[in-house]
Amino acid sequence: MPASLYDTYERQFDRGASLLDHPETLLRQIRACNNVYEFNFPVRVDGELRMFTGWRAEHSHHRKPLKGGIRYAEHVDADEVKALAALMTFKCALVNVPFGGSKGAVRVNPYATPVEVLERITRRYTAELLWKNFIGPGVNVPAPDMGTGEREMAWIADTYDGMHVGGLDNFACVTGKPVTQGGIQGRIEATGRGVVYGVREALSHAEDLGRHGLEPGLEGKRIAVQGYGNVGWHAAHILAKEYDARIVAIGEYNGWLENPDGIDLDALEDWRKEKKSLLHFPGAKTHDHPPGMLEVECDVLVPAATQHVITAENAARLRCRMVAEAANGPTTPEAEAILLKNNVLVLPDIYLNAGGVTVSYFEWTKNIGHIRYGRMEKRLEAVKESGILQALEKASGHVLDPEVRELFGRGSDEIDIVRSGLEGTMVDAYREVREFARRSGKKGTDLRTAAFAVAIEKVARAYESLGIFP
Ligand code: GLU
Repeated sequence: MPASLYDTYERQFDRGASLLDHPETLLRQIRACNNVYEFNFPVRVDGELRMFTGWRAEHSHHRKPLKGGIRYAEHVDADEVKALAALMTFKCALVNVPFGGSKGAVRVNPYATPVEVLERITRRYTAELLWKNFIGPGVNVPAPDMGTGEREMAWIADTYDGMHVGGLDNFACVTGKPVTQGGIQGRIEATGRGVVYGVREALSHAEDLGRHGLEPGLEGKRIAVQGYGNVGWHAAHILAKEYDARIVAIGEYNGWLENPDGIDLDALEDWRKEKKSLLHFPGAKTHDHPPGMLEVECDVLVPAATQHVITAENAARLRCRMVAEAANGPTTPEAEAILLKNNVLVLPDIYLNAGGVTVSYFEWTKNIGHIRYGRMEKRLEAVKESGILQALEKASGHVLDPEVRELFGRGSDEIDIVRSGLEGTMVDAYREVREFARRSGKKGTDLRTAAFAVAIEKVARAYESLGIFP
């Protein structure tokens, strides 16, 4: 029997809660998943009706709307959806995104299902949610997760819109939409980019790193990425291209690549386009046993695939100094105990992958504001910046480099604002968690426990302000 993700979540919650001083009744309410809607619906496949099972779990209503992705996967179940909804609550609280936590799923293998069937499933799933008030701009706002992306979000928005004729805020019913359908620049890369900002921030506190056997800075760091989907792909590209880190291993469901000198990601992209697979890329060694990838020697291991991949069985064999949890729930509690004992720094999922929902929040505010970020101020900023540059040139008697002019005299576009908002969010949240861990009184409080404590505290304050709890 595979370990339960909900059980993992409850144990993580309890560790965080144990550092706080709140009545047990309140903590129990915060911990529980408020409701789970499970439903079966028919969709026509090859002329015949086939039944599909879907879920939407709502973990917490302390802020509205509720927020969280929709997962399409063959082996998903209610336990998993509930756990992922709970993680959303604490993820949002931690990065000050004012939403409750939710998650949805459909049991289907999206990679073996024709696109027109996926469209029918998605539209019917949306209608099912709508009939029970489980979707809406002020109620519950889905987003992409494993097995879904912009395309599915566009179908959801269109279905919802068609059922609310004239609704001004209809497109705020879902995030992760294509930019041409009310989406926002930078949402696709957001989770991966947030992972990079989080790892970068963790590696910038030199005094924390010695006991983990890590040196500060990202440059030259050996990174191993498990899962080359949206999150892993962007994290790898940003780490390599913007921070000169070395991607020494990439894991996929059918095997993995290894090159201690660093994998050339552009050449790999060309290879994949041609061969429709990463494997046997000439610029790396191909291994055919996927789990072996986690044991590769590296500085930072980035699990960016699915839950419970680091277990009591393999944790002691990991040869990294940091586990950067880009996926949700990749580490079991037993495995984490082993990693912590071995002084491996674990950056927890509820912090590290919060970049996705952070930019979803920007998208939602854009949708209800009906104006693109930068629309009002871009020109004003550009004029002011140019004025300052001109004054600088006049005063110094030097003509500035065209590159400097290019960088400063143009004002901010939506993508600049989104990235900057994401970066600030990730940096601030790390510092808050780190500060809590240092002050918690208990020596050696790990970052997950601290992150849960910080997040639970924020949810508790929201409940307390309702005056229900003494
Ligand atoms: N599915 C993503 C997550 O697990 C994003 C959720 C969202 O943007 O609402 O955080």
